[in-house]
Amino acid sequence: MPQMFGRKHEVSPQRSRHEGQEFSSHKGIVVCNDCGAAYFKKRWVHGLEEVKNKDNKDEPVSFSICPACAMIKNKQYEGRITIKNLPEKHAKDLEDIVRGFSKRAFERDAMHRLIEVKKEGVNWVITTTENEMANKLAHHIKESLRAVKSRTHFAPEPSDVAEIIIEFE
Ligand SMILES: [Zn+2]
Repeated sequence: MPQMFGRKHEVSPQRSRHEGQEFSSHKGIVVCNDCGAAYFKKRWVHGLEEVKNKDNKDEPVSFSICPACAMIKNKQYEGRITIKNLPEKHAKDLEDIVRGFSKRAFERDAMHRLIEVKKEGVNWVITTTENEMANKLAHHIKESLRAVKSRTHFAPEPSDVAEIIIEFE
């Protein structure tokens, strides 16, 4: 297995944020070919039914790929949490915390996604499409599982990548 997430330089500084600057020049509604998320008026939502209303029923609809799907496709991430020395007794809890948190994050914002939970024994690597999501998730993990040590490192500008390490004793 190649080290998929070890090369943060792959994260292009030009990459647009999920707020959708890249799409702000688009006229009408954009639908993601991959996940069905829809973009309208500077906002990505979960699907066309969330944007369509009587006022925009005549807006043209075009197809593209949303920033979250593009990031995943390009093997990029914006948040990465490395868990070290995870005690066996916490494995199931951690999985539940990550899945539950990510589900809620996605429900709130269609661009906030869990990319992968990569498990290598007691060391896990969790990647997300959004840095603040990773920060909040890390905080939640620390609170819930009483991890002893953690540190956060933001990659230097212009990168948006948040790298968080949570270590258990
Ligand atoms: Zn998509």
